[in-house]
Amino acid sequence: MNDREWMAETLLGLLNTPSPTGYTHRAAERIENTLRGLSFQPERTHKGNVVCCLGGEGAPLALSAHVDTLGAMVRSVKPNGRLRLCQIGGYAWNSIENENVRVFARDGREYTGCVYLTTPATHVFRDMGSVKRDDTTMEVVLDENVKDAQGVKALGIGPGCFVAFEPRACILPSGCIKSRHLDDKASSAVLLRLAKAVAEGAVKPARRLYLIFTVHEEVGHGASAGLPEDTQDILSVDMGCVGDDLGCDETMVSICAKDSRGPYNYELTSRLIELAEENGLRYAVDIYPAYGSDADAALSAGYDLRHALIGPGVFASHGYERGHLDGLENTYRLLTAFVQDTKTI
Ligand SMILES: [Zn+2]
Repeated sequence: MNDREWMAETLLGLLNTPSPTGYTHRAAERIENTLRGLSFQPERTHKGNVVCCLGGEGAPLALSAHVDTLGAMVRSVKPNGRLRLCQIGGYAWNSIENENVRVFARDGREYTGCVYLTTPATHVFRDMGSVKRDDTTMEVVLDENVKDAQGVKALGIGPGCFVAFEPRACILPSGCIKSRHLDDKASSAVLLRLAKAVAEGAVKPARRLYLIFTVHEEVGHGASAGLPEDTQDILSVDMGCVGDDLGCDETMVSICAKDSRGPYNYELTSRLIELAEENGLRYAVDIYPAYGSDADAALSAGYDLRHALIGPGVFASHGYERGHLDGLENTYRLLTAFVQDTKTI
Protein backbone atom coordinates (compact mmCIF):
# COMPACT_ATOMS: atom_id res chain seq x y z
CA MET A 1 0.00 0.00 0.00
CA ASN A 2 1.48 3.39 -0.94
CA ASP A 3 1.06 6.51 1.23
CA ARG A 4 -1.89 7.84 -0.76
CA GLU A 5 -3.69 4.50 -0.33
CA TRP A 6 -2.79 4.50 3.38
CA MET A 7 -4.36 7.96 3.66
CA ALA A 8 -7.51 6.76 1.85
CA GLU A 9 -7.81 3.74 4.19
CA THR A 10 -7.24 5.96 7.21
CA LEU A 11 -9.93 8.33 5.95
CA LEU A 12 -12.46 5.51 5.49
CA GLY A 13 -11.77 4.27 9.02
CA LEU A 14 -12.40 7.74 10.45
CA LEU A 15 -15.53 8.32 8.35
CA ASN A 16 -17.01 5.05 9.58
CA THR A 17 -16.37 5.94 13.22
CA PRO A 18 -19.33 7.99 14.47
CA SER A 19 -18.29 11.25 16.15
CA PRO A 20 -20.98 13.91 16.41
CA THR A 21 -19.73 16.78 18.61
CA GLY A 22 -20.06 15.60 22.22
CA TYR A 23 -19.68 11.92 21.34
CA THR A 24 -16.18 11.88 19.91
CA HIS A 25 -14.29 9.46 22.15
CA ARG A 26 -14.22 6.67 19.58
CA ALA A 27 -12.72 8.85 16.85
CA ALA A 28 -10.23 10.32 19.34
CA GLU A 29 -9.15 6.80 20.36
CA ARG A 30 -8.76 5.82 16.73
CA ILE A 31 -6.48 8.79 16.12
CA GLU A 32 -4.47 8.09 19.26
CA ASN A 33 -4.02 4.46 18.25
CA THR A 34 -2.83 5.45 14.78
CA LEU A 35 -0.32 7.93 16.27
CA ARG A 36 0.91 5.39 18.83
CA GLY A 37 1.36 2.91 16.00
CA LEU A 38 3.72 5.48 14.45
CA SER A 39 5.64 5.65 17.77
CA PHE A 40 4.33 9.06 18.84
CA GLN A 41 2.85 9.82 22.27
CA PRO A 42 -0.49 11.60 21.84
CA GLU A 43 -2.24 13.11 24.85
CA ARG A 44 -5.91 13.85 25.50
CA THR A 45 -6.79 17.29 26.88
CA HIS A 46 -9.52 17.76 29.48
CA LYS A 47 -12.04 18.79 26.83
CA GLY A 48 -11.18 15.79 24.69
CA ASN A 49 -8.79 17.11 22.03
CA VAL A 50 -5.89 14.90 20.95
CA VAL A 51 -2.54 16.72 21.04
CA CYS A 52 0.62 15.15 19.68
CA CYS A 53 4.13 16.50 19.28
CA LEU A 54 5.87 15.26 16.12
CA GLY A 55 9.28 16.61 17.16
CA GLY A 56 11.35 19.42 15.65
CA GLU A 57 12.96 22.37 17.41
CA GLY A 58 12.00 26.01 17.83
CA ALA A 59 9.13 28.31 16.71
CA PRO A 60 6.35 25.83 17.51
CA LEU A 61 3.63 25.42 14.90
CA ALA A 62 0.29 23.72 15.62
CA LEU A 63 -1.65 22.08 12.80
CA SER A 64 -5.28 21.56 13.74
CA ALA A 65 -8.04 19.47 12.20
CA HIS A 66 -11.34 18.52 13.80
CA VAL A 67 -12.75 15.02 14.16
CA ASP A 68 -16.13 16.04 15.53
CA THR A 69 -18.94 16.16 12.98
CA LEU A 70 -22.47 17.35 12.53
CA GLY A 71 -25.06 15.17 14.20
CA ALA A 72 -28.13 15.35 16.38
CA MET A 73 -29.47 14.65 19.84
CA VAL A 74 -32.80 13.19 20.86
CA ARG A 75 -34.87 16.15 22.01
CA SER A 76 -37.96 14.22 23.00
CA VAL A 77 -39.77 10.93 22.47
CA LYS A 78 -43.21 11.27 20.92
CA PRO A 79 -46.24 9.28 22.15
CA ASN A 80 -46.04 7.18 18.96
CA GLY A 81 -42.42 6.17 19.67
CA ARG A 82 -40.82 8.47 17.10
CA LEU A 83 -37.88 10.67 18.09
CA ARG A 84 -37.79 14.43 17.77
CA LEU A 85 -34.28 15.73 17.11
CA CYS A 86 -32.29 18.82 17.82
CA GLN A 87 -29.32 19.61 15.65
CA ILE A 88 -25.67 19.48 16.65
CA GLY A 89 -23.85 21.92 14.39
CA GLY A 90 -25.41 23.89 11.55
CA TYR A 91 -27.05 22.24 8.53
CA ALA A 92 -30.21 22.33 6.46
CA TRP A 93 -32.86 19.86 7.66
CA ASN A 94 -33.49 18.63 4.13
CA SER A 95 -29.88 17.40 3.96
CA ILE A 96 -30.69 14.56 6.39
CA GLU A 97 -34.04 13.54 4.96
CA ASN A 98 -34.26 9.76 4.55
CA GLU A 99 -30.79 9.29 6.04
CA ASN A 100 -30.07 6.25 8.15
CA VAL A 101 -28.89 6.97 11.68
CA ARG A 102 -27.32 5.31 14.68
CA VAL A 103 -28.77 6.12 18.08
CA PHE A 104 -26.60 5.69 21.18
CA ALA A 105 -28.33 4.93 24.47
CA ARG A 106 -26.33 6.16 27.45
CA ASP A 107 -26.09 2.62 28.85
CA GLY A 108 -24.05 1.54 25.82
CA ARG A 109 -26.80 -0.03 23.71
CA GLU A 110 -26.90 1.08 20.08
CA TYR A 111 -29.77 1.16 17.63
CA THR A 112 -30.40 2.12 14.04
CA GLY A 113 -33.19 4.15 12.52
CA CYS A 114 -33.97 6.57 9.72
CA VAL A 115 -34.92 10.24 9.46
CA TYR A 116 -38.27 10.79 7.76
CA LEU A 117 -40.74 13.55 7.22
CA THR A 118 -43.69 13.16 9.58
CA THR A 119 -45.71 12.97 6.34
CA PRO A 120 -43.42 10.78 4.26
CA ALA A 121 -45.61 8.92 1.77
CA THR A 122 -46.39 10.45 -1.63
CA HIS A 123 -49.54 8.29 -1.90
CA VAL A 124 -50.91 9.61 1.37
CA PHE A 125 -49.65 13.17 1.83
CA ARG A 126 -50.04 15.09 -1.39
CA ASP A 127 -48.19 18.20 -0.16
CA MET A 128 -45.05 16.46 1.06
CA GLY A 129 -42.89 18.20 -1.54
CA SER A 130 -43.67 21.64 -0.17
CA VAL A 131 -43.58 20.89 3.56
CA LYS A 132 -40.98 23.03 5.31
CA ARG A 133 -38.32 20.73 6.71
CA ASP A 134 -37.55 21.40 10.37
CA ASP A 135 -37.55 19.71 13.76
CA THR A 136 -41.35 19.67 13.87
CA THR A 137 -41.81 18.02 10.47
CA MET A 138 -38.95 15.51 10.61
CA GLU A 139 -38.38 12.64 13.00
CA VAL A 140 -36.45 9.44 13.54
CA VAL A 141 -38.27 6.16 13.10
CA LEU A 142 -36.34 3.45 14.96
CA ASP A 143 -35.71 0.09 13.30
CA GLU A 144 -37.31 -1.57 16.33
CA ASN A 145 -40.75 -2.87 17.01
CA VAL A 146 -41.82 0.05 19.19
CA LYS A 147 -45.03 2.02 18.85
CA ASP A 148 -45.05 4.13 22.01
CA ALA A 149 -42.86 6.17 24.33
CA GLN A 150 -42.78 3.39 26.91
CA GLY A 151 -41.28 0.99 24.40
CA VAL A 152 -38.60 3.51 23.46
CA LYS A 153 -37.78 4.09 27.12
CA ALA A 154 -37.30 0.35 27.57
CA LEU A 155 -34.61 0.48 24.87
CA GLY A 156 -32.72 3.02 26.99
CA ILE A 157 -33.44 5.84 24.55
CA GLY A 158 -34.57 9.23 25.77
CA PRO A 159 -33.78 12.93 25.63
CA GLY A 160 -30.02 13.55 25.47
CA CYS A 161 -29.07 10.44 23.49
CA PHE A 162 -26.69 11.09 20.61
CA VAL A 163 -27.64 10.44 16.99
CA ALA A 164 -25.07 9.97 14.21
CA PHE A 165 -25.86 10.08 10.50
CA GLU A 166 -24.76 7.23 8.28
CA PRO A 167 -21.77 8.64 6.36
CA ARG A 168 -22.25 6.41 3.27
CA ALA A 169 -18.52 6.75 2.69
CA CYS A 170 -17.01 5.57 -0.58
CA ILE A 171 -13.82 6.25 -2.46
CA LEU A 172 -14.17 5.46 -6.14
CA PRO A 173 -11.48 4.32 -8.62
CA SER A 174 -11.53 7.83 -10.14
CA GLY A 175 -10.33 9.26 -6.84
CA CYS A 176 -13.74 10.79 -6.19
CA ILE A 177 -14.83 10.61 -2.54
CA LYS A 178 -18.49 10.70 -1.51
CA SER A 179 -19.36 10.82 2.17
CA ARG A 180 -20.82 12.86 4.95
CA HIS A 181 -18.29 14.45 7.29
CA LEU A 182 -15.39 14.90 4.89
CA ASP A 183 -15.46 18.13 6.92
CA ASP A 184 -13.10 17.57 8.60
CA LYS A 185 -12.12 13.92 8.57
CA ALA A 186 -10.49 14.45 5.17
CA SER A 187 -7.96 16.83 6.74
CA SER A 188 -7.60 14.62 9.81
CA ALA A 189 -6.45 11.84 7.47
CA VAL A 190 -4.05 14.27 5.78
CA LEU A 191 -2.51 15.17 9.16
CA LEU A 192 -2.10 11.49 10.02
CA ARG A 193 -0.33 10.95 6.70
CA LEU A 194 1.99 13.79 7.63
CA ALA A 195 2.68 12.11 10.98
CA LYS A 196 3.54 8.90 9.12
CA ALA A 197 5.94 10.76 6.82
CA VAL A 198 7.64 12.40 9.82
CA ALA A 199 7.88 9.04 11.61
CA GLU A 200 9.53 7.52 8.55
CA GLY A 201 11.94 10.45 8.15
CA ALA A 202 10.51 11.44 4.76
CA VAL A 203 9.48 14.86 6.13
CA LYS A 204 11.77 16.74 8.51
CA PRO A 205 9.96 19.62 10.26
CA ALA A 206 12.00 22.84 10.34
CA ARG A 207 10.34 23.76 13.64
CA ARG A 208 8.59 22.13 16.57
CA LEU A 209 5.43 20.59 15.20
CA TYR A 210 2.20 19.77 17.04
CA LEU A 211 -0.90 18.08 15.70
CA ILE A 212 -4.17 19.04 17.37
CA PHE A 213 -7.31 17.02 16.66
CA THR A 214 -10.17 19.01 18.11
CA VAL A 215 -13.64 17.75 19.05
CA HIS A 216 -15.83 20.87 19.37
CA GLU A 217 -15.26 22.68 16.08
CA GLU A 218 -18.81 22.29 14.80
CA VAL A 219 -20.09 24.16 17.85
CA GLY A 220 -17.44 26.88 17.58
CA HIS A 221 -14.83 26.33 20.31
CA GLY A 222 -12.62 23.46 19.13
CA ALA A 223 -9.17 25.00 19.59
CA SER A 224 -10.16 27.55 22.22
CA ALA A 225 -8.23 25.67 24.93
CA GLY A 226 -5.47 23.14 25.41
CA LEU A 227 -2.92 24.28 22.81
CA PRO A 228 0.68 23.63 23.90
CA GLU A 229 1.88 26.72 25.79
CA ASP A 230 4.78 27.51 23.48
CA THR A 231 2.69 27.50 20.27
CA GLN A 232 3.47 30.50 18.04
CA ASP A 233 1.48 29.78 14.90
CA ILE A 234 -1.70 27.80 14.24
CA LEU A 235 -2.65 26.46 10.83
CA SER A 236 -6.19 25.13 10.67
CA VAL A 237 -6.47 22.34 8.15
CA ASP A 238 -10.16 22.22 7.41
CA MET A 239 -12.35 21.90 4.34
CA GLY A 240 -12.20 24.37 1.47
CA CYS A 241 -15.54 25.63 0.15
CA VAL A 242 -16.70 24.96 -3.40
CA GLY A 243 -19.44 27.06 -4.99
CA ASP A 244 -20.45 30.35 -6.59
CA ASP A 245 -17.66 32.91 -6.96
CA LEU A 246 -15.11 30.58 -5.36
CA GLY A 247 -12.04 29.37 -7.26
CA CYS A 248 -11.62 26.09 -5.39
CA ASP A 249 -12.78 22.72 -6.65
CA GLU A 250 -12.55 19.23 -5.14
CA THR A 251 -9.11 18.52 -6.60
CA MET A 252 -7.51 21.64 -5.11
CA VAL A 253 -6.13 22.87 -1.84
CA SER A 254 -7.90 26.00 -0.76
CA ILE A 255 -6.03 28.82 0.98
CA CYS A 256 -8.52 30.96 2.85
CA ALA A 257 -7.60 34.65 3.03
CA LYS A 258 -10.60 35.74 5.11
CA ASP A 259 -13.64 34.12 6.69
CA SER A 260 -16.59 35.33 8.76
CA ARG A 261 -14.28 36.21 11.66
CA GLY A 262 -11.89 38.34 9.59
CA PRO A 263 -8.64 38.11 7.62
CA TYR A 264 -6.01 35.46 8.29
CA ASN A 265 -2.41 36.38 9.12
CA TYR A 266 -0.83 38.22 6.20
CA GLU A 267 2.65 36.72 6.42
CA LEU A 268 1.57 33.09 6.79
CA THR A 269 -1.14 33.29 4.14
CA SER A 270 1.20 34.98 1.66
CA ARG A 271 3.86 32.32 2.23
CA LEU A 272 1.33 29.51 1.78
CA ILE A 273 0.36 31.03 -1.59
CA GLU A 274 4.03 31.26 -2.60
CA LEU A 275 4.68 27.66 -1.61
CA ALA A 276 1.63 26.43 -3.53
CA GLU A 277 2.91 28.29 -6.56
CA GLU A 278 6.54 27.11 -6.19
CA ASN A 279 5.43 23.48 -5.84
CA GLY A 280 3.09 23.57 -8.82
CA LEU A 281 0.05 22.66 -6.73
CA ARG A 282 -3.55 22.99 -7.81
CA TYR A 283 -4.83 25.65 -5.38
CA ALA A 284 -7.16 28.60 -5.01
CA VAL A 285 -7.20 31.61 -2.71
CA ASP A 286 -10.75 32.18 -1.53
CA ILE A 287 -12.89 34.14 0.93
CA TYR A 288 -15.51 32.34 3.04
CA PRO A 289 -18.11 34.77 4.43
CA ALA A 290 -20.07 31.95 6.13
CA TYR A 291 -17.24 30.03 7.73
CA GLY A 292 -15.32 30.00 11.00
CA SER A 293 -12.35 27.81 11.91
CA ASP A 294 -10.50 26.43 14.89
CA ALA A 295 -7.78 29.01 14.28
CA ASP A 296 -10.42 31.71 14.76
CA ALA A 297 -11.55 29.97 17.94
CA ALA A 298 -7.98 29.97 19.29
CA LEU A 299 -7.54 33.70 18.67
CA SER A 300 -10.99 34.55 20.00
CA ALA A 301 -10.09 32.65 23.19
CA GLY A 302 -7.13 34.96 23.68
CA TYR A 303 -4.18 33.00 22.31
CA ASP A 304 -1.45 35.25 20.89
CA LEU A 305 -0.77 33.43 17.62
CA ARG A 306 -0.40 33.96 13.90
CA HIS A 307 -3.14 31.99 12.16
CA ALA A 308 -3.98 30.61 8.73
CA LEU A 309 -6.40 28.19 7.11
CA ILE A 310 -6.03 25.68 4.28
CA GLY A 311 -7.87 22.52 3.25
CA PRO A 312 -9.11 20.31 0.45
CA GLY A 313 -12.11 21.50 -1.56
CA VAL A 314 -15.40 19.92 -0.44
CA PHE A 315 -18.53 20.15 -2.59
CA ALA A 316 -22.00 20.19 -0.93
CA SER A 317 -20.46 20.82 2.49
CA HIS A 318 -22.56 19.93 5.53
CA GLY A 319 -24.63 17.63 3.32
CA TYR A 320 -23.68 14.42 1.51
CA GLU A 321 -20.27 15.79 0.68
CA ARG A 322 -18.01 15.21 -2.26
CA GLY A 323 -14.25 15.49 -2.48
CA HIS A 324 -11.33 14.01 -4.36
CA LEU A 325 -8.09 12.29 -3.37
CA ASP A 326 -6.24 14.90 -5.46
CA GLY A 327 -7.59 17.62 -3.14
CA LEU A 328 -6.17 15.73 -0.16
CA GLU A 329 -2.92 15.21 -2.04
CA ASN A 330 -2.53 18.92 -2.82
CA THR A 331 -3.30 19.75 0.81
CA TYR A 332 -0.72 17.22 1.97
CA ARG A 333 1.94 18.58 -0.36
CA LEU A 334 1.32 22.17 0.75
CA LEU A 335 1.57 21.05 4.38
CA THR A 336 4.85 19.21 3.84
CA ALA A 337 6.29 22.29 2.11
CA PHE A 338 5.09 24.58 4.91
CA VAL A 339 6.35 22.51 7.86
CA GLN A 340 9.79 22.23 6.27
CA ASP A 341 9.95 25.95 5.37
CA THR A 342 11.95 28.48 7.39
CA LYS A 343 10.97 31.75 5.72
CA THR A 344 8.20 32.76 8.12
CA ILE A 345 9.96 31.64 11.31
ZN1 LIG B 1 -14.90 21.84 9.42
